[in-house]
Amino acid sequence: FIHFYVEPIEIDGMRKGTMLVLRDVTKETEMDRLKSELVSTVSHELRTPLSSIYGFTELMLNRDIDLSKQDRYLKTIHSETERLANLVNDFLDVQRMESGTQSYQKRPLDLRPLLEETTQFYAASTTKHTITFRSFNETGPWIEADEEKMKQLMNNLLNNAVKYSPSGGTIEVVLTADQHHVQFTVRDEGIGIPKTALAKLFEKFYRVDNSDSRKIGGTGLGLAICKEIVEGHDGEILVDSVERKGSLFTVKLPQMVTSHSAVSEMIDMS
Ligand code: ADP
Repeated sequence: FIHFYVEPIEIDGMRKGTMLVLRDVTKETEMDRLKSELVSTVSHELRTPLSSIYGFTELMLNRDIDLSKQDRYLKTIHSETERLANLVNDFLDVQRMESGTQSYQKRPLDLRPLLEETTQFYAASTTKHTITFRSFNETGPWIEADEEKMKQLMNNLLNNAVKYSPSGGTIEVVLTADQHHVQFTVRDEGIGIPKTALAKLFEKFYRVDNSDSRKIGGTGLGLAICKEIVEGHDGEILVDSVERKGSLFTVKLPQMVTSHSAVSEMIDMS
């Protein structure tokens, strides 16, 4: 985006000519867009959990509360508070991305147990979906990575797979590795993504504009954060999808170039 305006050129108070000034305001325009997206997302996404927490605490404060329902109310308050905390953390992550202050604590990391445990956690928390994990490697592969960020990446992808598969189905996580690269995929049989939306999917605040996605709700930040994390680890993230059939997210990362004994030494040292 270019703004232009005309300025007079004056020397000793005498007008000597005019100057055409062109200013590239792409960055400002992008910031304005992000700010207005932020305001509308915040008002929309904060309202639902807040009103639910408010409503359930009101019920709990009522002297005539039915004690048998107390547990259920508390569970809702707890999960809605968690949702708010996640939302705030996502906003903070995006702010760090914008200001270039996101940092990674990279250490040697065995990817397999991390993926397996996260998958098992999701499998245990749903009865609607079948969630499986497969790896073609006996041990490893090892990568040089920030463990918390890798968990966040996995959580975002699995969370979406569950969220956008309202009719259930299988969600499959597969880990493979060759000499230099590690690859893992998250495949679901959910609502899928229109071909025209694929190119914009990893942009901040982007959400597919159809009734299904709108009903499900979200901020459009999860995948932007995933991309930032993957690229912060010199990798790439790809998506392929067929509407009403399902989606496939692929993460490729460089494999750590160290023998296993060297890896254990590095762990001992840290
Ligand atoms: P959010 O889920 O909070 O809207 P994301 O950045 O995680 O934000 O995802 C962006 C958009 O991509 C979603 O709004 C949704 O339209 C689409 N999307 C992401 N993952 C999936 C998936 N597994 N299946 C179908 N659509 C998806």
